[in-house]
Amino acid sequence: MDKITEKGMLLIISGPSGSGKGVVLKELLPSDNFALSVSVTTRRPRAGEVHGKDYFFCTTEQFFDKIKNDELLEHATFVGNYYGTPRAYVQEQIDAGKTVVLEIDVNGALQVKEKFPESVLIFLMPPTMQELRGRLVGRNTETAETIEDRLHRASEEVKLIEKYDYLVINDEVKTAVNKIRLIAQVERLKPCRSGYAVKLFNKERNSC
Ligand code: 5GP
Repeated sequence: MDKITEKGMLLIISGPSGSGKGVVLKELLPSDNFALSVSVTTRRPRAGEVHGKDYFFCTTEQFFDKIKNDELLEHATFVGNYYGTPRAYVQEQIDAGKTVVLEIDVNGALQVKEKFPESVLIFLMPPTMQELRGRLVGRNTETAETIEDRLHRASEEVKLIEKYDYLVINDEVKTAVNKIRLIAQVERLKPCRSGYAVKLFNKERNSC
C-alpha cells in the first residue's frame, strides 16, 4: 500500500477580547504540528505589534481589493475595523499536513464552519465576565469607549457558544493550552480525517 499522507486540519479559536487568546496562542505556538494564520486588518497597530507577525496591517482600500481578488478565506468587521484570513497560507499549510490555527471572531468562525464543516471550533472564555473587564482595563491598550464596545460585543459573542465544538475556560494558561492540544490530538484521530479512511473508501473529501 502506498504511504498515506494525512491532510491538515483547521482549528479555530474565538473568544471575547480579554479572554486571553493572545497569551494562550503564545504558549501553544510555535510547534511543529501547528501553524498560526496571520490575519489582515484595517485596525491600527497597538504599541509593540509587528506587521507580518501579529497582523498584516492594511488600508480599507487594500482590504477591499483582497476581497475582490478572492484572497480571503473569510472576513468580518469587529468594533469598527475589518479583519480577514489570507486564503493562500491556510491552503498551503493544510496541504502540508499542519493543524492551522485561526484566531478569529465568531462571525468569521461560523463562515469557515459553513464552508469547511470539518473545521474544529473552540471558544475560549475567562472564568467570569468581571475578569474579562479587569483584563481589558488592565492591558491598557484601548480607550474607555472601545473597552465598552468590546464588552458589549463579548456579551453578543457569548450567545453563540453553542455553535462551537468545545468550550475552554482560561483560568490557568497552561491548563487551557493543554486542553487545546488534547482537542487537536483527539480530533486528528477521527477516522473521517484519516488518510486511511479516505483511501480505503476512495472518498474525494473527508467530512467529520
Ligand atoms: P484585536 O483587535 O483584539 O486584535 O481583535 C479583535 C477581534 O478580531 C478578535 O475577536 C479576533 O479574534 C478577531 N480577529 C482577528 N483576526 C481575524 C480574522 O482574520 N477574521 C475574523 N473574522 N476575526 C478576526
